[in-house]
Amino acid sequence: MPKVVVQKELCKGCGLCVDACPTKNLAMGQRVNAQGYAYVVWDKKAKCTGCAICGRLCPDIALRIYKEERK
Ligand code: SF4
Ligand code: SF4
Repeated sequence: MPKVVVQKELCKGCGLCVDACPTKNLAMGQRVNAQGYAYVVWDKKAKCTGCAICGRLCPDIALRIYKEERK
């Protein structure tokens, strides 16, 4: 199973990745980071394909995509 890790302190909450994800795995969260930005959360129950579109789009390099879930 692929896995996406949001580095919350790098996220500025722009929402680009949320709009771009074809499987709607990403959503704006309710919490804010140290800079006061609401950051995205990745829904591990949705069907992430590991396509990495979100990671390529993010201007702040806040997303790490792992093709296989780390043990
Ligand atoms: S890797 Fe692809 S499917 Fe998974 S969260 Fe990112 S854009 Fe969505
Ligand atoms: S594209 Fe990057 S900075 Fe924008 S909401 Fe997604 S993770 Fe955060």
